[in-house]
Amino acid sequence: MNLKLLVVLFLSAILLSSFLTMNPSEKKGEKIPMLRNYYTPDHYPSFQEINHTLHQIAREHPDIAKVFSIGHTWGWDPTTGKYDWPKPLWTIKISDNPDVNESEPRVYIHWHHAREWIAPAFMMYLINSLINGYYENDTIHWLVNHYEIYITPLSNADGYVIDGNGNLNNLTGGWGPGGWRKNARDNNGDGTLEINDQWGASGEGVDPERNWDWHWSDGDNDPNSSTYHGPYPFSEPMVIAEKNFIENYSIDAQCVLHSFSGAILIPWFYTSQNAPHDSFYRDFAKHMALRTKINGDPTKHYNYGRPDEVIGYSAPGGSSDWVYGYLNKIGIAVEMEPQDASWSDDGFHPSTDKIQMYSEDLYEAMIYFIEISDTRLKSKSSAAEQPDAYVVWGYVKDEGGNPVAGEKVTITNTANGEKIETTTDEHGFYMLDLGTLNSSYSSTTQFQISAGSAMKVFHANDSMGSEKIDIVKSDVPEFSTAPGILIIATLAIVIYFSRN
Ligand SMILES: [Zn+2]
Repeated sequence: MNLKLLVVLFLSAILLSSFLTMNPSEKKGEKIPMLRNYYTPDHYPSFQEINHTLHQIAREHPDIAKVFSIGHTWGWDPTTGKYDWPKPLWTIKISDNPDVNESEPRVYIHWHHAREWIAPAFMMYLINSLINGYYENDTIHWLVNHYEIYITPLSNADGYVIDGNGNLNNLTGGWGPGGWRKNARDNNGDGTLEINDQWGASGEGVDPERNWDWHWSDGDNDPNSSTYHGPYPFSEPMVIAEKNFIENYSIDAQCVLHSFSGAILIPWFYTSQNAPHDSFYRDFAKHMALRTKINGDPTKHYNYGRPDEVIGYSAPGGSSDWVYGYLNKIGIAVEMEPQDASWSDDGFHPSTDKIQMYSEDLYEAMIYFIEISDTRLKSKSSAAEQPDAYVVWGYVKDEGGNPVAGEKVTITNTANGEKIETTTDEHGFYMLDLGTLNSSYSSTTQFQISAGSAMKVFHANDSMGSEKIDIVKSDVPEFSTAPGILIIATLAIVIYFSRN
């Protein structure tokens, strides 16, 4: 190799590298308002703190958050000993244009069992992450703009207040570490809630996770049981409120949080039979589980499967069965915390130093659940052809590395020509879910992804159920002046040296 060629290569490399580095690859943080931490996971939030925080978020972020009540509880007040405190089921909607019901995928996250404290804490962690992530993270920004995310952190607020209202020092007040599980229905109708069993099994209260009208009659009809299913289906105000909300808002995907067992639970909940969409559920539950951690260890994951397979019993009359069985929408449950959490303070009321870790253990999986909530389930009779949920995302950029906003991105199944498409946001970010295709596919199916005349080919065979595909547009050579000059200079040097 001669000296002249070396000089050419060297100068070209310097110029090209300066050309590349001067191009901002992402334009984040252009409009960051006052960001604040709305919840620090070093304590369990009380009913009052959750209300206050949700309303504060809605006040400070009216462009992406709105708070409203979907109903109320029976209203038991342990202080007065009367039913004089009906607690609103405060619900936060996180989405752009929150006052408008847009035609976007709608996902609902809620909770039922009073003593399962990690879940409301996690929901506050999630809400805080979504609000702040809107300004800091392109995936969250996209989800908030293109999805409607609804979260009711404390639907069983009566039970939560009975169980100590987030204060671990109040746990031992009469019913010990086992904790209160049910709601506050006055089963014997004497105007008072008698609770005297430390395992949450007194003659009072109804299990809100057994009161839904899907194989309700298979449930537990003993009022003394902690899993009492109530006098009739949908007998409980908080359950009716959630049911009406899910129907009236056309929720596409529901996740009810529980603890403890470290598991993603899929239908059917009432029986040990496979649901018609079993393969679809297992596919995305596996991908969710792969995104979980156990005690912060990324090599260990939640289990997944039907309740009878994973936690050892079926649960008739549950919310997720009703969402799936009655509405044919996606319904799942998540049991938080590790599989070896123990039945006592540890499981239901983990020490506060574990809240952050348990929240982080589930966070990425919940983001994935939100992402694939746009999947449209086929009828149960054709469920075998259900396409798997598979998220394709990335950035569209020009040759200069600048984000291309408003660009149509199309994915085509080359086997049959079916297409799905979306448009990039201001960061050039896009996201598409193969679960919104009508046709099924396999790991050998070839897909084309295109943005303008730029095109790539891929197969959906990633074990994590998602793939990042960045696209550089070859048909928009709109260089800004400075890189253009550098390229001309590079070419001039190359030509000069090659001719001498
Ligand atoms: Zn539970």
